[in-house]
Amino acid sequence: MSVFEHPEFDGHEHVAYYHDKPTGLKAIIAVHNTNLGPALGGCRMWPYISSQEALTDVLRLSKGMTYKSAMANLKLGGGKSVIIGDPRKHKTDDFMQAMGRFVESFAGTYYTAEDSGISVDDLRAMAKQSQYIAGVDAQYHYNSEVPDGNPAPSTAYGVFVGLQASVKYALNTDLKGIRVAIQGVGHVGYRLAKHLYDSGAELYVTDIFPDGVNRAVADFGATAVSPEAIYSLDVDVIAPCALGASINDETIPQIKAKVIAGAANNQLAREEMGEVLRQRGILYAPDYVINAGGVIDIFHQKMVSSNTALRKHIEQIGTTLCEIYTRASSESCATNRVANAIAEERFQNKG
Ligand code: NAD
Repeated sequence: MSVFEHPEFDGHEHVAYYHDKPTGLKAIIAVHNTNLGPALGGCRMWPYISSQEALTDVLRLSKGMTYKSAMANLKLGGGKSVIIGDPRKHKTDDFMQAMGRFVESFAGTYYTAEDSGISVDDLRAMAKQSQYIAGVDAQYHYNSEVPDGNPAPSTAYGVFVGLQASVKYALNTDLKGIRVAIQGVGHVGYRLAKHLYDSGAELYVTDIFPDGVNRAVADFGATAVSPEAIYSLDVDVIAPCALGASINDETIPQIKAKVIAGAANNQLAREEMGEVLRQRGILYAPDYVINAGGVIDIFHQKMVSSNTALRKHIEQIGTTLCEIYTRASSESCATNRVANAIAEERFQNKG
Protein backbone atom coordinates (compact mmCIF):
# COMPACT_ATOMS: atom_id res chain seq x y z
CA MET A 1 0.00 0.00 0.00
CA SER A 2 1.36 3.43 -0.87
CA VAL A 3 1.32 6.35 1.55
CA PHE A 4 -1.53 8.20 -0.13
CA GLU A 5 -3.92 5.23 0.11
CA HIS A 6 -2.95 4.44 3.72
CA PRO A 7 -5.92 4.69 6.16
CA GLU A 8 -3.84 6.87 8.52
CA PHE A 9 -2.85 9.28 5.74
CA ASP A 10 -4.42 12.64 6.54
CA GLY A 11 -3.03 15.09 4.03
CA HIS A 12 0.47 14.79 5.49
CA GLU A 13 2.80 17.32 3.89
CA HIS A 14 5.97 15.29 3.72
CA VAL A 15 6.76 11.63 4.32
CA ALA A 16 10.27 10.39 3.66
CA TYR A 17 12.07 7.07 3.92
CA TYR A 18 15.79 6.83 4.63
CA HIS A 19 18.29 4.01 4.40
CA ASP A 20 21.91 4.43 5.45
CA LYS A 21 23.82 1.49 4.04
CA PRO A 22 26.99 1.67 6.23
CA THR A 23 25.06 1.59 9.52
CA GLY A 24 21.90 -0.23 8.40
CA LEU A 25 19.63 2.60 9.61
CA LYS A 26 16.10 2.42 8.24
CA ALA A 27 13.82 5.26 9.26
CA ILE A 28 10.75 7.24 8.28
CA ILE A 29 9.98 10.89 9.04
CA ALA A 30 6.45 12.22 8.63
CA VAL A 31 5.53 15.89 8.77
CA HIS A 32 1.77 16.22 9.13
CA ASN A 33 1.19 19.96 9.11
CA THR A 34 3.35 23.08 9.38
CA ASN A 35 0.69 25.83 9.18
CA LEU A 36 1.52 27.05 12.68
CA GLY A 37 5.28 26.52 12.50
CA PRO A 38 7.94 23.84 12.02
CA ALA A 39 6.89 20.33 12.95
CA LEU A 40 8.03 18.95 16.32
CA GLY A 41 7.74 15.35 17.41
CA GLY A 42 9.93 12.74 19.03
CA CYS A 43 11.98 10.01 17.43
CA ARG A 44 10.79 6.51 18.36
CA MET A 45 12.86 3.37 17.88
CA TRP A 46 10.93 0.12 17.85
CA PRO A 47 11.41 -3.37 16.37
CA TYR A 48 8.51 -2.92 13.94
CA ILE A 49 7.73 -6.17 12.17
CA SER A 50 7.34 -4.39 8.82
CA SER A 51 7.88 -0.99 7.23
CA GLN A 52 4.08 -0.85 6.85
CA GLU A 53 3.67 -1.05 10.63
CA ALA A 54 6.27 1.70 11.06
CA LEU A 55 4.45 3.84 8.49
CA THR A 56 1.14 3.41 10.34
CA ASP A 57 2.78 4.55 13.58
CA VAL A 58 4.54 7.57 12.11
CA LEU A 59 1.47 8.80 10.22
CA ARG A 60 -0.75 8.51 13.31
CA LEU A 61 1.74 9.97 15.77
CA SER A 62 2.73 12.92 13.57
CA LYS A 63 -0.93 13.91 13.17
CA GLY A 64 -1.37 13.69 16.94
CA MET A 65 1.50 16.14 17.39
CA THR A 66 -0.22 18.75 15.18
CA TYR A 67 -3.27 18.66 17.46
CA LYS A 68 -1.16 18.66 20.62
CA SER A 69 0.94 21.68 19.63
CA ALA A 70 -2.09 23.63 18.44
CA MET A 71 -3.87 23.06 21.77
CA ALA A 72 -0.73 23.99 23.71
CA ASN A 73 -0.62 27.39 22.00
CA LEU A 74 2.70 26.58 20.38
CA LYS A 75 3.78 28.00 17.05
CA LEU A 76 4.64 24.49 15.96
CA GLY A 77 3.28 21.87 13.64
CA GLY A 78 3.22 18.11 13.99
CA GLY A 79 5.79 15.56 12.95
CA LYS A 80 7.35 12.33 14.13
CA SER A 81 10.14 9.97 13.20
CA VAL A 82 10.45 6.23 13.60
CA ILE A 83 13.51 4.02 13.39
CA ILE A 84 12.92 0.39 12.53
CA GLY A 85 15.06 -1.70 14.88
CA ASP A 86 15.65 -2.95 18.38
CA PRO A 87 16.95 -0.10 20.57
CA ARG A 88 18.84 -2.59 22.78
CA LYS A 89 20.75 -4.07 19.83
CA HIS A 90 21.09 -1.81 16.81
CA LYS A 91 22.15 1.57 18.15
CA THR A 92 25.65 2.95 17.71
CA ASP A 93 26.96 6.50 17.61
CA ASP A 94 27.31 6.29 13.79
CA PHE A 95 23.80 4.88 13.51
CA MET A 96 22.36 7.83 15.44
CA GLN A 97 24.51 10.32 13.51
CA ALA A 98 23.00 8.90 10.30
CA MET A 99 19.56 9.62 11.79
CA GLY A 100 20.80 13.14 12.51
CA ARG A 101 21.64 13.57 8.81
CA PHE A 102 18.12 12.45 7.91
CA VAL A 103 16.60 15.02 10.28
CA GLU A 104 18.95 17.71 8.92
CA SER A 105 17.74 16.96 5.37
CA PHE A 106 14.36 18.42 6.36
CA ALA A 107 16.14 21.79 6.66
CA GLY A 108 14.24 22.93 9.75
CA THR A 109 10.71 21.91 8.77
CA TYR A 110 11.03 19.06 11.31
CA TYR A 111 12.55 19.10 14.82
CA THR A 112 13.00 15.86 16.69
CA ALA A 113 13.25 14.97 20.41
CA GLU A 114 13.22 11.96 22.73
CA ASP A 115 10.62 9.19 22.53
CA SER A 116 10.48 5.44 23.31
CA GLY A 117 13.80 3.72 22.65
CA ILE A 118 15.75 6.98 22.27
CA SER A 119 17.88 8.51 25.03
CA VAL A 120 19.44 11.93 25.53
CA ASP A 121 22.80 10.37 24.51
CA ASP A 122 21.23 9.29 21.22
CA LEU A 123 19.98 12.83 20.69
CA ARG A 124 23.50 14.13 21.36
CA ALA A 125 24.85 11.84 18.62
CA MET A 126 22.15 13.11 16.25
CA ALA A 127 22.99 16.68 17.18
CA LYS A 128 26.51 16.19 15.75
CA GLN A 129 24.85 16.15 12.34
CA SER A 130 21.78 18.31 12.80
CA GLN A 131 20.84 21.62 14.38
CA TYR A 132 17.19 20.49 14.58
CA ILE A 133 17.45 18.26 17.64
CA ALA A 134 15.48 19.40 20.70
CA GLY A 135 15.94 18.24 24.29
CA VAL A 136 19.75 18.11 24.47
CA ASP A 137 20.65 21.36 26.20
CA ALA A 138 18.02 22.15 28.79
CA GLN A 139 18.19 25.74 30.09
CA TYR A 140 14.94 26.29 31.97
CA HIS A 141 12.90 24.64 34.71
CA TYR A 142 9.30 25.66 35.46
CA ASN A 143 10.13 25.65 39.19
CA SER A 144 13.57 27.30 38.81
CA GLU A 145 15.43 24.08 39.68
CA VAL A 146 18.45 22.85 37.72
CA PRO A 147 17.05 21.40 34.46
CA ASP A 148 18.31 17.98 33.38
CA GLY A 149 16.51 17.67 30.04
CA ASN A 150 13.81 15.33 31.38
CA PRO A 151 10.39 16.78 30.40
CA ALA A 152 8.53 14.72 33.05
CA PRO A 153 8.57 17.49 35.72
CA SER A 154 6.87 19.89 33.28
CA THR A 155 4.43 17.19 32.18
CA ALA A 156 3.53 16.43 35.78
CA TYR A 157 3.07 20.10 36.62
CA GLY A 158 0.80 20.52 33.58
CA VAL A 159 -1.27 17.51 34.61
CA PHE A 160 -1.52 18.92 38.13
CA VAL A 161 -2.69 22.32 36.88
CA GLY A 162 -5.14 20.62 34.51
CA LEU A 163 -6.47 18.31 37.21
CA GLN A 164 -6.96 21.28 39.53
CA ALA A 165 -8.90 23.17 36.84
CA SER A 166 -11.00 20.08 36.09
CA VAL A 167 -11.91 19.58 39.75
CA LYS A 168 -12.82 23.25 40.05
CA TYR A 169 -15.02 22.97 36.95
CA ALA A 170 -16.75 19.68 37.83
CA LEU A 171 -16.94 19.88 41.62
CA ASN A 172 -16.47 23.62 42.26
CA THR A 173 -13.81 23.07 44.91
CA ASP A 174 -10.06 23.18 45.41
CA LEU A 175 -7.99 20.03 45.97
CA LYS A 176 -8.06 19.93 49.76
CA GLY A 177 -9.58 16.60 50.81
CA ILE A 178 -10.22 15.56 47.21
CA ARG A 179 -9.61 11.82 46.68
CA VAL A 180 -7.40 11.07 43.68
CA ALA A 181 -6.48 7.61 42.36
CA ILE A 182 -3.22 7.56 40.37
CA GLN A 183 -2.69 4.68 37.95
CA GLY A 184 1.06 4.33 37.38
CA VAL A 185 3.57 5.99 39.75
CA GLY A 186 6.44 6.43 37.31
CA HIS A 187 8.23 9.60 36.19
CA VAL A 188 5.04 11.61 35.84
CA GLY A 189 2.72 9.83 38.28
CA TYR A 190 5.07 10.17 41.25
CA ARG A 191 5.63 13.88 40.64
CA LEU A 192 1.89 14.42 40.20
CA ALA A 193 1.37 12.69 43.55
CA LYS A 194 3.76 15.18 45.19
CA HIS A 195 1.87 18.21 43.82
CA LEU A 196 -1.45 16.72 44.93
CA TYR A 197 -0.13 15.86 48.38
CA ASP A 198 1.17 19.42 48.79
CA SER A 199 -2.35 20.66 47.93
CA GLY A 200 -4.04 18.50 50.57
CA ALA A 201 -5.47 15.77 48.33
CA GLU A 202 -5.98 12.22 49.63
CA LEU A 203 -4.09 9.75 47.43
CA TYR A 204 -4.64 6.19 46.22
CA VAL A 205 -1.91 4.69 44.04
CA THR A 206 -1.30 1.60 41.99
CA ASP A 207 1.44 0.23 39.74
CA ILE A 208 2.51 -3.12 38.38
CA PHE A 209 5.89 -2.61 40.10
CA PRO A 210 6.11 -1.94 43.86
CA ASP A 211 8.86 0.75 43.92
CA GLY A 212 6.79 3.79 42.98
CA VAL A 213 3.87 2.64 45.10
CA ASN A 214 6.07 2.15 48.18
CA ARG A 215 7.63 5.58 47.72
CA ALA A 216 4.22 7.27 47.38
CA VAL A 217 2.95 5.46 50.49
CA ALA A 218 6.03 6.51 52.49
CA ASP A 219 6.34 10.07 51.17
CA PHE A 220 2.70 11.12 50.79
CA GLY A 221 0.71 8.78 53.01
CA ALA A 222 -0.95 7.32 49.91
CA THR A 223 -3.08 4.19 50.11
CA ALA A 224 -1.79 1.36 47.90
CA VAL A 225 -4.36 -0.53 45.83
CA SER A 226 -4.12 -3.33 43.28
CA PRO A 227 -4.06 -2.47 39.54
CA GLU A 228 -7.51 -4.07 39.10
CA ALA A 229 -9.07 -2.14 42.01
CA ILE A 230 -8.18 1.35 40.79
CA TYR A 231 -11.27 1.89 38.60
CA SER A 232 -13.98 1.08 41.12
CA LEU A 233 -12.55 3.10 44.01
CA ASP A 234 -14.83 5.58 45.70
CA VAL A 235 -12.74 8.58 44.64
CA ASP A 236 -13.33 11.97 43.01
CA VAL A 237 -10.63 11.74 40.34
CA ILE A 238 -8.86 9.01 38.40
CA ALA A 239 -5.49 10.04 36.96
CA PRO A 240 -4.31 7.53 34.32
CA CYS A 241 -0.51 7.86 34.25
CA ALA A 242 0.49 4.44 32.89
CA LEU A 243 -0.41 3.05 29.49
CA GLY A 244 -3.01 3.86 26.85
CA ALA A 245 -6.56 2.49 26.41
CA SER A 246 -7.25 2.24 30.15
CA ILE A 247 -10.66 3.88 29.59
CA ASN A 248 -12.58 1.18 27.77
CA ASP A 249 -15.81 -0.85 27.64
CA GLU A 250 -14.77 -2.90 30.66
CA THR A 251 -13.49 -0.14 32.92
CA ILE A 252 -16.02 2.65 32.34
CA PRO A 253 -18.94 0.86 34.09
CA GLN A 254 -16.74 0.50 37.20
CA ILE A 255 -15.77 4.17 37.46
CA LYS A 256 -17.27 6.15 40.34
CA ALA A 257 -15.00 9.19 39.94
CA LYS A 258 -16.47 12.37 38.46
CA VAL A 259 -13.22 13.44 36.78
CA ILE A 260 -10.61 11.64 34.65
CA ALA A 261 -7.44 13.69 34.35
CA GLY A 262 -4.03 12.12 33.82
CA ALA A 263 -0.85 12.00 31.77
CA ALA A 264 -1.15 8.80 29.74
CA ASN A 265 -1.34 9.07 25.96
CA ASN A 266 -4.35 7.63 24.12
CA GLN A 267 -6.37 6.98 27.27
CA LEU A 268 -9.61 6.26 25.42
CA ALA A 269 -9.69 2.81 23.80
CA ARG A 270 -11.86 4.41 21.09
CA GLU A 271 -12.88 8.01 20.40
CA GLU A 272 -16.56 7.14 21.12
CA MET A 273 -15.60 6.47 24.75
CA GLY A 274 -15.57 10.27 25.22
CA GLU A 275 -19.31 10.38 24.53
CA VAL A 276 -19.95 7.45 26.88
CA LEU A 277 -18.13 9.34 29.65
CA ARG A 278 -20.15 12.49 28.95
CA GLN A 279 -23.42 10.58 29.21
CA ARG A 280 -22.31 9.13 32.55
CA GLY A 281 -21.53 12.62 33.87
CA ILE A 282 -17.76 12.03 34.03
CA LEU A 283 -15.59 14.98 33.02
CA TYR A 284 -12.73 13.80 30.80
CA ALA A 285 -9.63 15.97 30.35
CA PRO A 286 -8.48 15.19 26.79
CA ASP A 287 -5.12 13.47 27.17
CA TYR A 288 -3.10 15.39 24.63
CA VAL A 289 -4.27 18.69 26.12
CA ILE A 290 -3.53 17.92 29.77
CA ASN A 291 -0.21 16.13 29.10
CA ALA A 292 1.30 18.89 26.91
CA GLY A 293 3.70 20.18 29.61
CA GLY A 294 6.51 18.11 28.12
CA VAL A 295 6.20 19.48 24.61
CA ILE A 296 5.86 23.01 26.01
CA ASP A 297 9.10 22.39 27.94
CA ILE A 298 10.94 21.18 24.82
CA PHE A 299 9.76 24.24 22.90
CA HIS A 300 11.06 26.67 25.54
CA GLN A 301 14.43 24.88 25.77
CA LYS A 302 14.97 25.62 22.07
CA MET A 303 14.42 29.38 22.28
CA VAL A 304 15.30 32.42 24.34
CA SER A 305 12.91 32.06 27.26
CA SER A 306 12.87 31.98 31.07
CA ASN A 307 11.77 29.75 33.94
CA THR A 308 8.80 32.05 34.50
CA ALA A 309 7.71 32.03 30.86
CA LEU A 310 7.87 28.24 30.82
CA ARG A 311 5.79 28.00 34.00
CA LYS A 312 3.16 30.47 32.74
CA HIS A 313 2.89 28.62 29.47
CA ILE A 314 2.32 25.29 31.25
CA GLU A 315 -0.32 26.93 33.44
CA GLN A 316 -2.32 27.83 30.31
CA ILE A 317 -3.28 24.14 30.20
CA GLY A 318 -5.86 24.87 32.91
CA THR A 319 -7.38 27.74 30.92
CA THR A 320 -7.49 25.67 27.72
CA LEU A 321 -9.28 22.82 29.50
CA CYS A 322 -11.91 25.21 30.87
CA GLU A 323 -12.46 26.56 27.34
CA ILE A 324 -13.01 22.97 26.15
CA TYR A 325 -15.36 22.12 29.05
CA THR A 326 -17.48 25.24 28.56
CA ARG A 327 -17.89 24.62 24.84
CA ALA A 328 -18.53 20.89 25.36
CA SER A 329 -21.29 21.75 27.81
CA SER A 330 -22.96 24.35 25.58
CA GLU A 331 -22.79 22.06 22.52
CA SER A 332 -23.68 18.85 24.47
CA CYS A 333 -20.59 17.29 22.96
CA ALA A 334 -17.79 15.07 24.28
CA THR A 335 -14.70 16.93 25.49
CA ASN A 336 -12.33 14.95 23.24
CA ARG A 337 -14.39 15.89 20.16
CA VAL A 338 -14.42 19.56 21.18
CA ALA A 339 -10.64 19.52 21.72
CA ASN A 340 -10.15 18.11 18.20
CA ALA A 341 -12.46 20.74 16.74
CA ILE A 342 -10.63 23.62 18.48
CA ALA A 343 -7.24 22.25 17.38
CA GLU A 344 -8.43 21.97 13.77
CA GLU A 345 -9.76 25.54 13.85
CA ARG A 346 -6.35 26.68 15.06
CA PHE A 347 -4.07 24.87 12.67
CA GLN A 348 -6.32 25.06 9.64
CA ASN A 349 -6.76 28.82 10.13
CA LYS A 350 -3.09 29.30 11.04
CA GLY A 351 -3.87 30.19 14.69
P1 NAD B 1 6.88 5.68 33.26
O1 NAD B 1 7.19 4.48 32.45
O2 NAD B 1 7.95 6.34 34.05
O3 NAD B 1 5.67 5.37 34.27
C1 NAD B 1 4.58 4.58 33.93
C2 NAD B 1 4.27 3.71 35.14
O4 NAD B 1 3.07 2.99 34.87
C3 NAD B 1 5.37 2.67 35.42
O5 NAD B 1 5.76 2.77 36.77
C4 NAD B 1 4.69 1.35 35.10
O6 NAD B 1 5.16 0.29 35.90
C5 NAD B 1 3.23 1.67 35.38
N1 NAD B 1 2.26 0.77 34.75
C6 NAD B 1 2.33 0.17 33.55
N2 NAD B 1 1.24 -0.57 33.33
C7 NAD B 1 0.45 -0.42 34.41
C8 NAD B 1 -0.82 -0.92 34.78
N3 NAD B 1 -1.52 -1.74 33.99
N4 NAD B 1 -1.34 -0.56 35.98
C9 NAD B 1 -0.66 0.28 36.78
N5 NAD B 1 0.56 0.78 36.50
C10 NAD B 1 1.10 0.45 35.32
O7 NAD B 1 6.23 6.71 32.21
P2 NAD B 1 5.98 8.27 32.43
O8 NAD B 1 7.08 9.03 31.79
O9 NAD B 1 5.64 8.53 33.85
O10 NAD B 1 4.68 8.48 31.53
C11 NAD B 1 3.42 8.04 31.97
C12 NAD B 1 2.41 8.20 30.83
O11 NAD B 1 2.33 9.57 30.45
C13 NAD B 1 2.74 7.42 29.56
O12 NAD B 1 1.54 7.03 28.95
C14 NAD B 1 3.43 8.46 28.70
O13 NAD B 1 3.28 8.18 27.33
C15 NAD B 1 2.62 9.70 29.06
N6 NAD B 1 3.37 10.95 28.85
C16 NAD B 1 4.57 11.15 29.47
C17 NAD B 1 5.25 12.33 29.25
C18 NAD B 1 6.57 12.61 29.92
O14 NAD B 1 7.04 13.76 29.89
N7 NAD B 1 7.20 11.61 30.55
C19 NAD B 1 4.71 13.33 28.41
C20 NAD B 1 3.46 13.10 27.82
C21 NAD B 1 2.80 11.91 28.05
